Amino acid sequence: MSSSNEIRATFLDYFARNGHTVVASSPLVPRNDPTLLFTNSGMVQFKNVFTGQEKRPYVRAASAQKCVRAGGKHNDLDNVGYTARHHTFFEMLGNFSFGDYFKEQAIAYAWELLTRDFALPKDRLLVTVYAEDEEAALYWKKIAGFPDSRIIRIATSDNFWRMGDTGPCGPCSEIFYDHGPEIPGGPPGSPDADGDRFIEIWNLVFMQFEEGPPGVRVPLPKPSIDTGMGLERFAAILQGKHDNYDTDTLRAIILASAEATGHEPDGRFKVSHRVIADHLRAAAFLIADGVLPSNEGRGYVLRRIMRRAMRHAHMMGVEDPLMHRLVPVLVRQMGGAYPELVRAEPLITETLKLEEGRFRTLLVRGLHLLAEETAKLGAGQPLPGEVAFRLYDTYGFPLDLTQDALRAEGRAVDVAGFEAAMAEQRRRARAAWAGSGEAATEGVWFDIKEKAGATEFLGYTTETAEAEI
Ligand code: ATP
Ligand code: MG
Ligand code: MG
Ligand code: MG
Repeated sequence: MSSSNEIRATFLDYFARNGHTVVASSPLVPRNDPTLLFTNSGMVQFKNVFTGQEKRPYVRAASAQKCVRAGGKHNDLDNVGYTARHHTFFEMLGNFSFGDYFKEQAIAYAWELLTRDFALPKDRLLVTVYAEDEEAALYWKKIAGFPDSRIIRIATSDNFWRMGDTGPCGPCSEIFYDHGPEIPGGPPGSPDADGDRFIEIWNLVFMQFEEGPPGVRVPLPKPSIDTGMGLERFAAILQGKHDNYDTDTLRAIILASAEATGHEPDGRFKVSHRVIADHLRAAAFLIADGVLPSNEGRGYVLRRIMRRAMRHAHMMGVEDPLMHRLVPVLVRQMGGAYPELVRAEPLITETLKLEEGRFRTLLVRGLHLLAEETAKLGAGQPLPGEVAFRLYDTYGFPLDLTQDALRAEGRAVDVAGFEAAMAEQRRRARAAWAGSGEAATEGVWFDIKEKAGATEFLGYTTETAEAEI
């Protein structure tokens, strides 16, 4: 059985042997890119290379990139613990060609690596192509020997990638693995494609056009390749599992969480263990890259992730802070590949401990209030927005924590009501200040309040600039 560390190394070695320069992961906080909340794919660090603004001494690269998808355009937070394939933090393996090889070679590399080096059974694999991309379909036939039934044509934007409103773009081809008929879910493009039977493992993006003003698209003289494969999804296959959370790295954290809480890993608190394992990784890697919990921007996303995990620990009846006790297991699993984790271990431990210690009293009181309030409601009746706001304002419950807490009983939150309560509080704050004769400082104070009160980081306005591989 290959460990995740071995799989990562095999992937990078394969592309190194094929003339690619192995480039280290860039930090989770993108350098020089204020439009992006967190690095969410392998191509982020190469954006300017693809557009031609920046030159590198190589035209082929490969990387294992740390990614977080917990805000902005890509937000998988609500899937965590519930699907077999989503994390907030994951590793994306990728190979890149900057105007060097293109479609046919990219497909050939992917196919050879999957079926020869990793020896995946061919009859478990199938692919999607963009409906208009006959070329890609032809190469899949030629290289993989796929019949038409294993090449699914998709006409939606799912198979057409864009860097932003303008700039490089092109069709993509996604490789799926069929985990077998015992698992619910249909093939890509079918109505029940959202199930976990057919899991997307690798996305190949063929950057072949340059988009200018709306409707104007010209072929790039030197098309490029950008690919992304989820290490955890791939490890699941190679380790004979269906679920990412049963692979070595995550399983080790889940077992540590089970031991620390005294609750079976796959028993009543299965979801909680999974959420804790995922959120621990995300929190630890974010802290290692310089993010600290706060009430705005990236720090608030980190705080939300940490507090969500803490609620799950609390549900399991844990009295003392839990998260920081799981850090050594994570560092043992991933510190070899990511030395920054080893360097930051003391900071990660302290930050988790402090946040959990501080939040605990509020969490307990807030959950008590929540139970009281929901007891007054009929089955399926949403929680009034005003209550969700009180939890937010007085008890430090991010909105998504309240939503997560109510998910098990199938109850929603009146989000419009929550927002109205927030707006009302701001209005009152503004009115109170207006009469105080301190007009000069009011603007500043209000700015801070505005930011501190933000429930959701919405990106620095231009989310379209987010890369989507
Ligand atoms: P999905 O449709 O399953 O949500 P995606 O199309 O959003 O995946 P891409 O943006 O194409 O994913 O990212 C490239 C690869 O990264 C995917 O093929 C998958 O293997 C992996 N990946 C994407 N999102 C996640 C996630 N939240 N957790 C783990 N792996 C992921
Ligand atoms: Mg997705
Ligand atoms: Mg997809
Ligand atoms: Mg995809």
